[in-house]
Amino acid sequence: MISKKVVKMLNEQINKEFFSAYLYLAFANYYIQRGLNGFGNWYTVQAMEERDHAMLFMKYMQNNGLPVTLEALEKPEGTYQNDMEPLKAGLEHERFITDSIHQIYAAALAENDYRTIKFLDWFVTEQAEEETNAEELISNMELFGNSSQGLYALNNEYAARVHTPPSLVL
Ligand code: MG
Repeated sequence: MISKKVVKMLNEQINKEFFSAYLYLAFANYYIQRGLNGFGNWYTVQAMEERDHAMLFMKYMQNNGLPVTLEALEKPEGTYQNDMEPLKAGLEHERFITDSIHQIYAAALAENDYRTIKFLDWFVTEQAEEETNAEELISNMELFGNSSQGLYALNNEYAARVHTPPSLVL
């Protein structure tokens, strides 16, 4: 039995993951406008991952016979002052998502909801990766982004990122 409180939090997480996709598409659009298509690609792929996360939360609810309510998505901030700003906003956002998933985990734990805990385990690990990735984007930009050659190399590296489906299958 999954409690009303946990159901509400799971449903809200669907919206948060879709918003993550939306936010990263806004980042992608910023970089593509700047001519940094590799950075644009990196965030486009990230947006696909976020959609995958949203779908996993939805599938988990569907599999457990829980009603899903799709809420309106917030409009993401679409203007950025410089190439570093989206990267820092991205790290801040991932920390917010980590905290949100930990809160669901804590609620499930308090209610001995082991099924939800097992489902969330994958996301706990995934969030550690997401934060590491976001930190790397920032440190790469700090180290190499100040020269045109460095930025060119980073842009090429990020152009190579491809979308792979999540390892979690429900
Ligand atoms: Mg996510």
